[in-house]
Amino acid sequence: MRGISALCIAASAASLVAAQQLNYPRALPIPIAANASDVPSCADAAWPPSNIGSLLKPQAPDAELREMLSEIDPARIQAIIEKLVSYGTRHTLSQQNSTTRGIGAARDWLLSEFQSLAEPSNGRMTVELQSYIQPVASRILFPTNISNIVATIQGCETPERVYVISGHYDSRCTDVNDYTSDAPGADDDGSGVAIAMELARIVATRNPRSTMIFTTVAGEEQGLYGSNFQAFTYKNSSVDVQGMLDNDIVGASHGDPGKFDPYTIRLFAEGPPATESASTKAERLAIGAENDSPARELGRFATSVAANNATGMNIAVIYRADRYLRGGDHESYLAAGYPAVRFTEPNENFAHQHQNVRVIDGVQYGDLAEFVDYDFTARVGKVNLATMWSQAQAPGWVRNVSVNASVLSNDSLLYWLPNNETGVAGYEVLWRPTDAPLWTHVLPVGNATNVTVPLSKDNVIFGVRAVGVNGYRSPATIPFPVPY
Ligand SMILES: [Zn+2]
Repeated sequence: MRGISALCIAASAASLVAAQQLNYPRALPIPIAANASDVPSCADAAWPPSNIGSLLKPQAPDAELREMLSEIDPARIQAIIEKLVSYGTRHTLSQQNSTTRGIGAARDWLLSEFQSLAEPSNGRMTVELQSYIQPVASRILFPTNISNIVATIQGCETPERVYVISGHYDSRCTDVNDYTSDAPGADDDGSGVAIAMELARIVATRNPRSTMIFTTVAGEEQGLYGSNFQAFTYKNSSVDVQGMLDNDIVGASHGDPGKFDPYTIRLFAEGPPATESASTKAERLAIGAENDSPARELGRFATSVAANNATGMNIAVIYRADRYLRGGDHESYLAAGYPAVRFTEPNENFAHQHQNVRVIDGVQYGDLAEFVDYDFTARVGKVNLATMWSQAQAPGWVRNVSVNASVLSNDSLLYWLPNNETGVAGYEVLWRPTDAPLWTHVLPVGNATNVTVPLSKDNVIFGVRAVGVNGYRSPATIPFPVPY
């Protein structure tokens, strides 16, 4: 609290309430004192005071996106989840040659379902089975066919840029190696699969500028095998994945008894990327950019385009890669060097995850469909679609953003490479106080590739984003210092 007195802290709490009642724009840090007349001696956390640029407003969905969001259907999501549950278990090691039980039956149904969802695209959306044989390994008791289903719709203007929405269709019960007991996996992760399928259905009738992939993967519960194979297949083919959204346990609005929040979704975003070189890591630490990894910028981007009245959801960005003791398929993409985040419901109920279906002392255990809130899942689907569609329609990330650090100056010279693609109208500099979670200010700079901002790089975090002729904005890229 910047060393302010206990009295001041108490006053700050009061002014915080007052600030919220005043309806501060959500992208702004709430001032500690808010310059309220009843606490005139407290510091103003909105420092540094500046009139550089204007207050940043979230990007409202356009008419086409609003229409697409309205097409997400909770009844279809329910039907998908109930169909998946009907296979009894979808454990990765379960039988693969039945049409009614096991992961093979689920795989075959997903493949044919995706193929029919792709039909309205007239060949623009293709569906493939991405398979390999996983030898014996941790949690893989015998050589196992692991198959991902991948629906890809080619971008019409910048097909080389790729965006991925994923859920895992394998399931588990209490013992991770028990591949015969029922493991309904309605929420974990029938919900994520349903979102990937429902969004594929809607996007198949549209023309995204960039390529979008809707995928359901296997082997997650055994150790992220399917997504790992997928992410490194793309990496080894130099596929330019610019954003990956993992949906895992996104179906319940009720957590433990008494915990109910139907209008918030958590977004887990890692800090400094593990894949960065030692020198980049050191530089990131030196300039205080620990909170500006590509995943965090993707999280900020999501809050700016997908937390609004068109999705009906708030996004709670969590500053960690995943929950304690847990992991997910986004981590495969992170390991391959791609920006990736995970969506998970706000309050989990662990009696409904990784549990054999049973009743103990009147408590129902198991990941059953009755615990899924289909309207909530549909709203999470809207958050996904608003985020990924907005990114796919916008220009790509701005590359090689730098700040001149060769002279001591209170001005900041920023420069970057032009986006080598069609449809770029210009660029905007974003900035925020170093302790603010979200970007607060925007400064349009036209179709330039450098600008001197009369604001000290020592006091704020800068970012640069590209603006499309269609009005869509890219996520922001922070500058690293380079002698000019
Ligand atoms: Zn899961």
